[in-house]
Amino acid sequence: MNDIYEKVMEVAKRRGFVWPSSEIYGSVAGFIDYGPLGAMTKRNVENVWRSFYIIQEGYYEIECPTVGTEDIYVASGHVKEFADKMCQCPHCREYLRADHIVEEHGVEGAGALSAEVLKAKIYELPCPSCGEVMGETDVFNFNLMFETTIGPGSQRTGYLRPETAQGIFTDFARLLRFYRDKLPFGAVQIGKSYRNEISPRQGMIRLREFSQAEAEIFVHPDEKQHPSFHRYAEYEVPLLTYGLQETGQPPVRKTMRNAVDEGVVANEYVAYYIALTHELLVTIGVDPEKLRFRQHMPDERAHYAMDCWDAEVFSGRFGWVEIVGIADRTDYDLRAHSTTSGSSFTVFVPFEEARRALVKRIVPDMGVLGPKYRGKAKAIADAMAEATPGPEGVTVTVEGEEIFVPADLYQIREEETEVRGEEIMPHVIEPSYGIDRMMYVVLEHAYAEEEVEDELRRVLRLPPAVAPVKVAVFPLMNRDGLDVIARKITDTLGQRGIVAQYDDSGAIGRRYRRQDEIGTPFAITVDYDTREDDTVTIRDRDSMDQVRIPLGQVPEVVCSLVAGTMTFRDLSA
Ligand code: AMP
Repeated sequence: MNDIYEKVMEVAKRRGFVWPSSEIYGSVAGFIDYGPLGAMTKRNVENVWRSFYIIQEGYYEIECPTVGTEDIYVASGHVKEFADKMCQCPHCREYLRADHIVEEHGVEGAGALSAEVLKAKIYELPCPSCGEVMGETDVFNFNLMFETTIGPGSQRTGYLRPETAQGIFTDFARLLRFYRDKLPFGAVQIGKSYRNEISPRQGMIRLREFSQAEAEIFVHPDEKQHPSFHRYAEYEVPLLTYGLQETGQPPVRKTMRNAVDEGVVANEYVAYYIALTHELLVTIGVDPEKLRFRQHMPDERAHYAMDCWDAEVFSGRFGWVEIVGIADRTDYDLRAHSTTSGSSFTVFVPFEEARRALVKRIVPDMGVLGPKYRGKAKAIADAMAEATPGPEGVTVTVEGEEIFVPADLYQIREEETEVRGEEIMPHVIEPSYGIDRMMYVVLEHAYAEEEVEDELRRVLRLPPAVAPVKVAVFPLMNRDGLDVIARKITDTLGQRGIVAQYDDSGAIGRRYRRQDEIGTPFAITVDYDTREDDTVTIRDRDSMDQVRIPLGQVPEVVCSLVAGTMTFRDLSA
């Protein structure tokens, strides 16, 4: 068993991190269960994420349904566009992702190729499932959304959300009010998303149900200077620009200040979240040597996006994997929902000083509009009074319907008025994280094997913030009162909010190995000396060093070590 993925997944399955879902009925690809330790680790990763986005950035979290109505996904473009190119092997009948077949044979960026080009390329390639040369096969679009019906009688179509972002966009007006009508502001959401992936064969990397953590930050389109840019201005990150990709060169390290000043990254907001993401991923245990930020190539980037970068992490099994996408999405999402719903998605931004301006006002003539538009005439007139007329007429949206009123049905009056500000549609900066991919790469990067006293030691070097169990407590013997002291320590740590695991079974060396394998950073052992001098040993998972500390100091010391305000080396110094 040489493959790092096999090794990590063997430990993950055996120790209760990740299991195939509904195994007793034959698991379906793309669904996983998090076992007891996995669920806890995932919660810890999410809480590190929250400490950055909610506590540091001040963006509050919301929670929206995972089922959305059709309107949302028509507006967002998912109904029409959210599709992958698929083909079916003519020999084994397996459905396959056409761009992946081509990519596996060395063609980069195959996702941007047309169906015809993919079809021609696939002709000579072997089927990844049965190995036969594919030959003639059609390439067609397959929409990745899971469709459902809402309520009995199949009356309303619904979709399982393919991303958490749309809930934040549809709540825009309420969020704006919550943030007292001022830009910039942000909201975040952590939750399940669903994509009916065509042939997910990459374990935790490509799932059909997965967790996302997304932030949507609404900013003034002309003010893309992050108010706290100084925090990351000197922070250095390896950037693989599209220029470097074109010439096949490696990433270059740049400070965020230089990246913005040289025009490599579009603006301070995007640069800020690249640096924040770097810091966040390293905090949860991603190896910084295996982390880079790759800019989307112009043909890969969504047409509306101003700039887009993926945090990519190197996996021994999967190569460079996209873990996080960071994009300046301009006003695409808000404009789409505004057009479809007819609701307002603008923010009133006051001028520093009120200005006097000539404005053209439409004066609707009910005598003309009434007979023509009947029941809708009043609503149309109200909408016209707020609208800006064009040379031929004015278009208004009433009850979701766009109506064009020709110029001969109204008059225009020019008035000088005081203008206090303007309505602007914010731009959206979106960092979008895949929690399950973060989980997998953290497990892979944490996994180590070493020879200790002629035995193989498997250890997960998880950071304390992420490790599911923070400290193990062992009585050397299960008698003579040692067990009573050890249980008391476990309870005291529990009262301080520390997940501590009491273990009295087997030789002490075995107990250490068990904890090493699940990544428990510290272990406390109660021995016969404890009864004499009220001290215990505390052992560090990574160095395997042990130090004696007074029993009374255990809660303080463990809390400081877990919070990272003290290192084990400080303790032994
Ligand atoms: P996207 O909206 O495609 O940019 O996805 C945002 C993030 O969600 C990606 O960077 C991934 O980390 C994660 N993600 C997307 N699709 C999947 C999937 N099928 N399984 C697991 N994670 C995914």
